[in-house]
Amino acid sequence: MATFAFFYLRASQAESLHLQARTLAEAVATPVANGDRESATETLGWWKSATDLQVVAAYDQERRLLATVGGSTTAPSSPPFSPGAEVDFGALRLVEPVRLQGVTIGFLYLEMGFASLYRNIAALIAAIAALTALAVLVIRVVLGRAGERIAQPISDLVAVATEVSRHPELTKRAGTEGPREVAELAHTFNNMLDTLQREAAKLDCELRERQRTEALLDRLAHYDSVTGLANRVHFHNELPRAAERARRQRHNIALVYLDLDDFKVVNDTLGHHVGDALLKLVGERLAGVLRKGDFVCRLGGDEFTVILENIQSLHSAVEVVTKLIERLSSTYSIGEHSLHVGVSAGIALFPEQTEDLADLLRYADIAMYQAKAAGKNDYCIYTSDLTSRANFRLAIENEMRRGIERDEFFLKYQPQVDLVTGRIVGFEALVRWQHPERGVIAPGYFIDIAEQSGLIVPLGKQIVAKACREWARWRDHGADPPRLAVNVSGRQLDEASFVDDMMVALTAVGRPRPKIDLEITETLLLSDTRVSRSMLHRLAGAGIGWSLDDFGTGYSSLTYLSKFPISKIKIDQSFVARLPGDGNSEAIVRAVLGMAGGLGMEVVIEGIETREQADYLVAMGGRIGQGYLFHRPLAGDQALALLLGQASPAA
Ligand code: C2E
Ligand code: CA
Ligand code: CA
Repeated sequence: MATFAFFYLRASQAESLHLQARTLAEAVATPVANGDRESATETLGWWKSATDLQVVAAYDQERRLLATVGGSTTAPSSPPFSPGAEVDFGALRLVEPVRLQGVTIGFLYLEMGFASLYRNIAALIAAIAALTALAVLVIRVVLGRAGERIAQPISDLVAVATEVSRHPELTKRAGTEGPREVAELAHTFNNMLDTLQREAAKLDCELRERQRTEALLDRLAHYDSVTGLANRVHFHNELPRAAERARRQRHNIALVYLDLDDFKVVNDTLGHHVGDALLKLVGERLAGVLRKGDFVCRLGGDEFTVILENIQSLHSAVEVVTKLIERLSSTYSIGEHSLHVGVSAGIALFPEQTEDLADLLRYADIAMYQAKAAGKNDYCIYTSDLTSRANFRLAIENEMRRGIERDEFFLKYQPQVDLVTGRIVGFEALVRWQHPERGVIAPGYFIDIAEQSGLIVPLGKQIVAKACREWARWRDHGADPPRLAVNVSGRQLDEASFVDDMMVALTAVGRPRPKIDLEITETLLLSDTRVSRSMLHRLAGAGIGWSLDDFGTGYSSLTYLSKFPISKIKIDQSFVARLPGDGNSEAIVRAVLGMAGGLGMEVVIEGIETREQADYLVAMGGRIGQGYLFHRPLAGDQALALLLGQASPAA
């Protein structure tokens, strides 16, 4: 019976281990494929903590250890045997292949100890041995004494014991009639059966609990907790299946990559709970628009993918995507907030555009980026031309990284003039790239890429330092330089070291300190976490002026602005370009000039190209202008010469 219990209990543990191994192998497939140690360790970690495994380890295709989680025992440096299970008296061990799309890309090693199993069985064996010895003794003594009278009940008892030990039939009980000693023996035996039956029921209960845990783990591994949609792991399992069906039935599937527009602003300004609530609603709307067979997943963050099966033509995919965008971009109410978010979508077709699933996802992603670049809240269908554009961006990014190291960036300085007297009252520093092969490149070609890749942070630091050095050089030539404006991007302000870096640049060039303005855009002020008011005030206290660039193209709330220490507003050149003659632009320029005056802010009017524009602006009360009519951006020496000329006695 003990042997039976051992094999029964061990077999049930082995089966559970197999089941866990298969589910876990699916869960770690993506990290193993990517060689991503951190996610692999994380997945193994929560798995181990939710089960009673002793050691879990993942290996790559070359059988090298990628990640392991264990207690006192450590994992072997490579899978110790080929896939399958191995049992010794200390533990149950299993090596399971990790597969992605049917290909073995790594291995998983799991180890489960037997310590508690052994303790239970040892107790059982001891009980049975004691009982048997007692039975033999009693038979001898009692039989000798009482002979045939008690032989029958004893042999009945032995028959029941044999039967119970042969089959797992724990409900059987021995009869308790006969002489007192025999009845007592039968009672003891029956009591033992009662205990065993209770233990078996408990074990059964534990097994069911374990199955429930496994189901829960499976859910965690395959579904996103915020939206309840399928997650990335599930998506990577599902895509090959959908592709297989498409191949068999000779139809296309459309992969749609969706990314919410400016979701970060919602998260930053209203907090993560509102962000999460929004994602949940987005998930619900997505699921609402799609047909039964379509698959929708949250890849992570604000990115979603949809697999549309059975697509007859591109037209039908576009129809669904248009509906999706329309539905997702109507108002959401969350608590007291009423929110609008746009969504940009990229579409790629399988197998028409590619039969490679990794490429398919990349194509849809590239197309989505294109939709964003083209103005957001729209879709874009992948074309091969987009790949070359994406490659081009990547090349620029790499060349930029090298260019920053080799100091290939320099500044030009565009004067800002008093519209009435013509005197230079300021400069704006504008970056240029002296590319070793392509010549001088304007910022329009690389600032976006620098911002998206984060390269704007080291580049911006160089720009600030160069601007301060140039100002100091003008000073040292006796030019009494006016304020010099430097453009900064949101990414730079996100850096914890921004204020310190600024102070270092200002103090590194001697006294008097450079008079620097920083130009930022309105949208930055709207996200509380990016530009904290205290940071603006701290730098303002150190003599930095804050200037609002491209005013009129964004939110444009002057009352809102009064909360920040903004000293200057720059009216965007798009309005000036339509002057005079365009009623709308005229009204905006007039309103900004009037209100800014009331708030004590200076106004710089950008992009003045004609005398007519300048005269018109002066008539409206404009005071400071910047534009090709006066000067194009100049080299540092040219700017210095102008300043020195202005300082001469004639001025
Ligand atoms: P922005 O800050 O609005 O800069 C003004 C742009 O308008 C400059 O172009 C300038 O050369 C151009 N401009 C000046 N006067 C006229 C005019 O009369 N007519 C016309 N059509 N254009 C005029 P640039 O130098 O190509 O800079 C483009 C943008 O690149 C800047 O726009 C700014 O957003 C960004 N940028 C430039 N330098 C930096 C920098 O150092 N850091 C960062 N983060 N961004 C920069
Ligand atoms: Ca600017
Ligand atoms: Ca501007």
